[in-house]
Parts: sequence; structure tokens; C-alpha cells
Amino acid sequence: MSPSPETDEGRAAKRQKGALAVENFDGSHRSQTTPGGNMSQDAANGGGGGMARGALDGVESLNTVEIVPDGDVLIGVSGLAGVHKPISLRVSSHILALTSAKFKHLLATTATAADHPITLPLPAEDGDTMLLLCHILHLRNDKLPPRLPAESLYKLASMAHDFACAVAVGRATAGWFDALYHSGPAPSPPPPPPPSSTTAPAPAPATAPTIFIDPVKILLATLLLDEPTYFVRFTARWILAEPFASRFPVPPGSDAQLQRLSRELQRRRTALLCAARQDVDLLIEPCSVAFARGAEHYIDYAPGMSPDSGSFTHDNTKASSLCHVDSMAATLYLGALRDAGIWPATVSPASLGELVVAMRDFRVPEYDDCDKCDFCEGVKGLFGSGVGVVGRMWGERCWGLCLDCFNRGGDGDGAGGDGGGRGECRWEHGRGRV
Ligand SMILES: [Zn+2]
Ligand SMILES: [Zn+2]
Repeated sequence: MSPSPETDEGRAAKRQKGALAVENFDGSHRSQTTPGGNMSQDAANGGGGGMARGALDGVESLNTVEIVPDGDVLIGVSGLAGVHKPISLRVSSHILALTSAKFKHLLATTATAADHPITLPLPAEDGDTMLLLCHILHLRNDKLPPRLPAESLYKLASMAHDFACAVAVGRATAGWFDALYHSGPAPSPPPPPPPSSTTAPAPAPATAPTIFIDPVKILLATLLLDEPTYFVRFTARWILAEPFASRFPVPPGSDAQLQRLSRELQRRRTALLCAARQDVDLLIEPCSVAFARGAEHYIDYAPGMSPDSGSFTHDNTKASSLCHVDSMAATLYLGALRDAGIWPATVSPASLGELVVAMRDFRVPEYDDCDKCDFCEGVKGLFGSGVGVVGRMWGERCWGLCLDCFNRGGDGDGAGGDGGGRGECRWEHGRGRV
């Protein structure tokens, strides 16, 4: 899991730069660069309105990215792809007003009827993010990169939120969330184990090279874009992958929502760990019975009964033949649980995900209990069925938080409180696995 966000960023920057170069070639006849040019000058020149395109060379002396070739708005940004040079994005006022309440307001307050094109200087906004946002809003899907680094996705989500167009942007981002999710380092929640606990474990699926994904940035992106599926998935990833000792790192000055998310994530992880330990107790229970004084018995004698010494005088060995079939099985099983790091809590792995994987991969050790008598508890059978039940429960458990429950002020896992039963959730709680 070597962190390589920079490489990814670099690739995305190059791709955007490449796209930009093509745009510039298209418009090369009017892309004379005037480094001193600025947006206010641009606006002043644009006041002429009604002029033919060919006469707009003064207006378009800056490089222009033609997102919509006949667009009537030029959004001015201070640079693209790491090049700090003022540049305009040609877009449509109709689309901007339709998709974004903030753009609608900006257009209504800054443009006059005579402006053509309308200039909208936004030098404080990140140019690359604005370019991406405009491509999405104008359905230029051919210009969208197949992958987007978490940092860029976070910037896009923030801008979409600021410009009140998260609804329009949200659908376009699912593929990027998906690519990031499947490039991440954390183990996926386990599939339910096969019914027979003696079969060999399924081969692990081939995993793509992992990249580091900032959990705060990616979760903020899902919150800002109101993305329920990847909110569940990335919260599950954090809960499973982060060591028990680590806390969700809330940046200083974060809003109350992020602080609440941090608390909910930690609370949920603790609750899941407690539930996991309770499930493990289901396996310990049949083993502990075998060691209880009440279950101690002589071979073929009920507990509490001792062989009548008179009837055993011909066979002295019988007098000490306590039945050990169950207690030997229990010893074997408890040792196996300890070796796997499942029990006791003192040998537990550092993260919930590792514990889940240990549980998923646990196989009941072979034990021959053919010598068991009528008064044995049947530890082998009880333990085996316990492993099957617990494995299924762990496989079907929902590990992440539900965005809709979280937004309603609930605990995000749909269990009790405000979480479940109030309103519709886009995430199916019953489905469990992410
Ligand atoms: Zn027995
Ligand atoms: Zn819910």
C-alpha cells in the first residue's frame, strides 16, 4: 500500500493539459496570449456586445477552452493544469442557470443584456476543478477522465457544493468513487463462508495495486455530493481498516457535521467490536461446557454417577475412566481460536478488518470423536455449527454508516435511536454487505 496520490494527480494533470492543448489548437487563430490581460479588461471589451465572432479578437485574446463552442459566457480562471495564466472557459448561460443556483444568481447580478459574451471572472476558484465542473454540467462526458484522484474529487465536490449544483454533478462522479474504492487498501467485507467448514478457503480475488486515499477527503466528498453508496463503503473501509488505537482525524476548524461523523465512526467501530466479541462467545460457550464440573462424567455414565466399585473389581482400569472426548475437543478448538487471533481479546488483531478476515478464514480443526458416549455434550457438533452461524453473521453484517440515517441525525447504522424506521433510506439496511 505504497502511497502514490502524486502519480495519479500527475496523470490527471497531464490528461487535462492534453485536452486543453487540443482545445487551443482548435482556437489557435485567436489565441494570441496577452500575459497582462485580466478579467476586468476583458469585461470592458466585452461591453461592445452584438459583434460578430471574428471581431471579438480583443475580447478573446486570452486562451479559451471551448466547452460549448457557441456558448455565451466566458468564465475566467487564473490557470489550468499547473500553468498560472489567465484563461477562459466558454460555457452556456442557459446550462449554468439551469444546473446551479449560484451561477444563476451570479449571471443575474453581474451580466447586463448587452453583454456578449458574458464574462464571469472567478480567479479565486481552482481552474482545473472549474474546467471539470463545466465539462460535467455541459454533459461533455468525452472530456471526463476515467479516474480521478481523491484530492481532485474532493475539490470537485466542494465546488459543486459551493455552486449549489451537487445534484447535477453527483451522477457523473459515481465511476470515480468506484475506481477509488476498488484501488483502496482495505479488505472487503467477507463473503459468507461455505456451509462445510472443512472445505478449502476460496482463493483471494486478484487485487489491483493500491493507492493511498485520504479517508477524510473521500468521506467529505461523499457527504458534499450526497452519495449514499460510497458513504457506506468508505465508512465501512475506515471502520474495518483503521487500527483500534487510531481516531478519525478531523482537521482543525471542521464543521459540526464532520465532528459528528468522527464520533459516529468511532462509536460504530466500538459497537461492532463488542458485537464481534459476543459472537465469539457463542463459540466459547460449548467449549466451556466441556470443562464444567457438571458435565464431568465417566465413560457411559451420566454426570454425577460413579461406577459401582463392586461391579468393576474385575477391571481396575474402569474405576478411573473419566470421559475426555469433549474436553479434548474443547482444548483443541480453544487453541485453534487463539492461534487464529480470534480469542481471547488479548490476542486480537489491531483492526476490526483483520479480526473479520481471521473469522472468515477460520476452519474447525479435525477431531475424531467416534469414542464419545451417550453422556457427552457433543462439543464437536456444537462448535462446528457455531462457527457456521457466526461466519454467516459476520459476512452479512453492515459495516458502514447509512448516509440518510446520518443526515437525519441518527447513528448511521439504522439500529435503534433515530436511525431506523424513520423515512426512506437509499441504502438497504437489510442487505448488510457493502
Ligand atoms: Zn462421554
Ligand atoms: Zn438508513
